[in-house]
Amino acid sequence: MKKVFVETYGCQMNVYDTELVQTILTKNGYEAVKEETAADIVMLNTCSVRDNANRKIYNRVHEIRRGRKSPVLVGILGCMATNFKTDLLDNKALKIDFIAGPDSYKHLPRLISEASGGEKTFDVTLSEFETYSDIDPTRQTGPNAWIAIMRGCNNYCTFCVVPYTRGRERSRSPENIVEEVERLVANGYKQVTLLGQNVNSYSHEETSFTNLMDKVSQVKGIERIFFTSPHPKDFPTDLLKLMAERDNICKQIHMPLQAGSSRILKKMNRTYTKEEFLGLVDHIRSIMPDVHLSTDIILGFPTETDEEYMETEEVLKKVRFDTAFIFKYSERPNTTAERLFKDDVSEEQKKHRIIRLNAIQRDIRLEKNREKIGKDQEILVEKIGSRRDPNEIQARNEGNTVVILPSNKDISVGDLVMVKITDATPDVLRGEFV
Ligand code: SF4
Repeated sequence: MKKVFVETYGCQMNVYDTELVQTILTKNGYEAVKEETAADIVMLNTCSVRDNANRKIYNRVHEIRRGRKSPVLVGILGCMATNFKTDLLDNKALKIDFIAGPDSYKHLPRLISEASGGEKTFDVTLSEFETYSDIDPTRQTGPNAWIAIMRGCNNYCTFCVVPYTRGRERSRSPENIVEEVERLVANGYKQVTLLGQNVNSYSHEETSFTNLMDKVSQVKGIERIFFTSPHPKDFPTDLLKLMAERDNICKQIHMPLQAGSSRILKKMNRTYTKEEFLGLVDHIRSIMPDVHLSTDIILGFPTETDEEYMETEEVLKKVRFDTAFIFKYSERPNTTAERLFKDDVSEEQKKHRIIRLNAIQRDIRLEKNREKIGKDQEILVEKIGSRRDPNEIQARNEGNTVVILPSNKDISVGDLVMVKITDATPDVLRGEFV
């Protein structure tokens, strides 16, 4: 039996896709192994969003080849497969055996078999239909089950390559998703996270994202539902009301702001202004006052002035997000921004802005976490053992914040329990069992 190993880079969708790939190959007679060195076939499930992604992958391929005595087939999957197919195939020194794009994973058995015969082979065709709804992935990690409900993106933000590497939006049928949730509950899962590049753009015939959330939250035994990653343009009031109403829908929303200046947002093609974003945050909080909000921010987008950066700072202070993922802009190959705009904000300015904004966000997060001290919260146990102590318990609250608890022999991974928050840092909460 040939042994396969998949190494995953990038977003949660790639983690999910790795589970799909392993399931497809296991069903076709391969064995999935946990060590790259034990595998006959190594696949890198790549991401094009991160900085210098291709250089890192090239280095990794060389490393894999250098460390091997026995022959190994190396394949590239994911966004880089679509984005750099020609570069990958033409690079003689790299010796890639096969390439599969995000919509071609069902063809992997054929691609591997062709590559085993010495043929360099690829399939990066983007599909209007492929949702992998007929594959029930073997879950690899933790008490949370990820469920991809839609794939692709129609938004074309100018800094992002995803619409080109993962194709147009398409959604699975609600019946198929609900069946998967029921199966997961039967297998002991209490928490699911619905996943999509634009998860709240989900649409299948007459079923909207709100309708789907309604159906999923009615599945007996499902106690926590998260979703990611949404776009601010798709938050109708009926969705927010449903979230407020249902105990098992977590009051946590990721709201990628990206920039605080309406001019920069327009250049990014984000389709909302600063004022519209702030109005939406007020609306969400009027329906769910205790909602946990997280965001993504890009600093130093082409032509962003100091004044425009200050607008981002102003939005951050006004909204007081619970978490913010802050990045410096850097050009991504084959994006509209790379083609049309010069990366003209200096590295020094970007560095100055990111240090400043991270410091502000750290203070906000500490304040917000301290507000939770003394409060009771429901947590889901994720693992036994923290960075400091192998007996401590690591869990997450409804806002997706890590909560560390003292050791307790009666507690297992996957348990949902009430705890009292006793201490807080910007990154974690500490608690005790009530
Ligand atoms: S919404 Fe924008 S950032 Fe998100 S995947 Fe689509 S193009 Fe990329």
